[in-house]
Amino acid sequence: MFVGAFDIGGTKTIVALADETGKVYEKLQFPTDTSDCLKHLDQCCEIFQGFLENRGIAPGEISGIGVNLPGLVDCEKGILIRAVYAGWNNIPVKEHLSRKLQIDRIVCENDVNSCAIGELKFGLGKQFRSFGWMTVSTGVGGAVVCDGKLLRGAHGYAGEFGHIKVEYVSPQLCPCGEYGCLEAHGSGTALNRLIKEQVQKDLAFDAAFEALQESPSGVSCAKLAKSGNETAQAIFCQVGEYLGRGIACYTNILDPDAVIIGGGVSASLDLLMPGIRKSLEQYTFAQMKDVKILPTALGYEAALMGAIAIAL
Ligand SMILES: [Zn+2]
Repeated sequence: MFVGAFDIGGTKTIVALADETGKVYEKLQFPTDTSDCLKHLDQCCEIFQGFLENRGIAPGEISGIGVNLPGLVDCEKGILIRAVYAGWNNIPVKEHLSRKLQIDRIVCENDVNSCAIGELKFGLGKQFRSFGWMTVSTGVGGAVVCDGKLLRGAHGYAGEFGHIKVEYVSPQLCPCGEYGCLEAHGSGTALNRLIKEQVQKDLAFDAAFEALQESPSGVSCAKLAKSGNETAQAIFCQVGEYLGRGIACYTNILDPDAVIIGGGVSASLDLLMPGIRKSLEQYTFAQMKDVKILPTALGYEAALMGAIAIAL
C-alpha cells in the first residue's frame, strides 16, 4: 500500500511517496510558491504524478494523500482557512487535489498538528501516550496529544503554546499583536534579538564571534556556548527559562508524559535545558516537576512523517 505526502510549509514544500511503514520511496523538496496557492498545488501534483510514473504505480494503488498546510485548516472539508505568512485564504485544497489527481482520500491538517501525529505514530508516541509537541523555530507552534489522541479544542486552536504569556514586567511585542507571549521571548527570533543586543553592548562577546570568523547568529552562538563561552550560555539559558515557563503552564494543566520539541532551535536543546529546568522547578506543581523534555525522534523531517501518518 502506498500513500502520498505533501508537506507544504510557508517557505518550502516536500512531496513524497511512501508506504504504510513510513518508508519513503521518492521525495523532492522545492520552494513554496506563495504567489498562487492553487498553482503551487498543481506543481505538487505534477511532481507526485512523476513519482507514480517512475515506479509504474497507478493512482488507484494510492490509498490516500496527507497534506500539511501552514495555517488554520478545516480538516473535515479540507479547506485552508488562513495561512498568514503565505497570505492564503479559503483555499479548497482537498477538492482541488482530489480532482487533479483522481484520488478521493485527501487528508488535510495543520502542519504543527501533523508533526504531533507523526511523532505519535512513528516517533516517541510509541513510548508516550500523552505529550505536548512544540515547534521552536522563527516562532513557537504547538499541539496537544492526550491519551493517544490529538486535542483540537472548540475551534481548532488547542495547543497554541506560542501565545502563553511568559513575561509581564518587560514584555516584547508578539507577531500576534499582544505582548509577552512565549513566541516573543522563547523563539529563534528572540534568541537572535538577545544575541544582537548583547553584541552591541559587549565588546568581548562581539570579539568572540570575530575569533570564530562567523557573524552573530543562533548557530554561531550555539558554537560559542558549546566551547564554554559563558555569555553565550547565559543567552540560551534565558531563552530556555521562557520556554520553561510555557512548558510549566502546559504541564500543570495536562500532566503529560513528556514535552517533545522540534524545529530549528531544538538542535540546541541541551543548551536550553538549564533554563527550562530552572523554570520547571519554580513554576510546576511539585509532583510534575520531572516531566520529560525531549527532542523529536523524527529529526528535521518530523512534518513529512506527519503527512504520511495522517494519510494512513
Ligand atoms: Zn502572541
